[in-house]
Amino acid sequence: MSSSAPLNYDNLLPGTVVFENYRVLRTVGKGATSVVYACCLSDEYELVAALKVLSRKAQADEKIAARFRNEINVLKLIRHPNVVQYVEFLRNGLAEAFSMELVEGGSLHDLIFSKGLFDVAECIRILSQICLGLQAIHDAGVIHRDLKPKNILMTLRHDIKISDFSTAICPALGPLPYDVGRVGTYEYMSPEVLAKGIADVRSDIFALGVIGYQMITGELPFKTEKFASHRDPTRKGTPKPPHRLRAQCPRALSRLLMCALDAKPARRPQSAAQMHRELQSLSFARTRKLTQSLFGFLRKKN
Ligand code: ATP
Repeated sequence: MSSSAPLNYDNLLPGTVVFENYRVLRTVGKGATSVVYACCLSDEYELVAALKVLSRKAQADEKIAARFRNEINVLKLIRHPNVVQYVEFLRNGLAEAFSMELVEGGSLHDLIFSKGLFDVAECIRILSQICLGLQAIHDAGVIHRDLKPKNILMTLRHDIKISDFSTAICPALGPLPYDVGRVGTYEYMSPEVLAKGIADVRSDIFALGVIGYQMITGELPFKTEKFASHRDPTRKGTPKPPHRLRAQCPRALSRLLMCALDAKPARRPQSAAQMHRELQSLSFARTRKLTQSLFGFLRKKN
């Protein structure tokens, strides 16, 4: 009889096979409540997946375990190229986990740190993809509630995948157990969530505005230092429009981001699809302007 110690799912070593056919390749990330491993499902076809395992400590916490299962139930509802794709739920006597597509290019948070400022075209491209993913999430009846650069994963080709649905809500699935309403990450939380704990699709649009502002200006619109100590729910003061911090930022993009950051939900773009349309027309207008100036230059030259 083997006397080997039970596997420690918080620290699986490369080569370990778990849940019958997931062979661990490496650890890709550790969250507060889980560990995510890159796994190989079949050497023959080089099938890989990410395995998110609920940490041992978190298993004993009913609230965290409920959030973990909530993430699974919500992810099952959404299928879109800009949202991380759920594969299957896995459980044995020792651990609970689910598998999903592996996204290997790090997060938007990493990119913001390595890159600093984004050029306008890249900022519009990334925001547009987030809008498409977000619209699919909202179409499934889900509010993400924790949209932030750490939860936006990047593929190696720099396409985006929205992830981490542990605090997402879907009214059709019933309330999230132990939900306190005021959930999210402070810098990205809308005034209505901070004040009343009420989130709708427009609260996710607010978070999108914060992300865009951060990419184009390199700054957060609402400074943490100023508010962190007393968690001011009213978010007094208006951020400086992005074009005032960065001259290259087109006025139209600056206006759109300020609109997404409006304290009143009714004055924000009312859907991610609307925000996407506005970004597309902005992008077309920019391309037209660039083409015209190129033709003008060539005409002068000849
Ligand atoms: P927290 O509670 O701290 O927000 P969490 O425990 O819910 O986090 P995640 O944030 O979802 O865990 O993931 C933990 C880490 O694993 C993160 O660094 C994330 O970038 C990485 N990760 C999550 N999903 C994937 C995936 N599908 N592919 C690659 N990396 C992933």
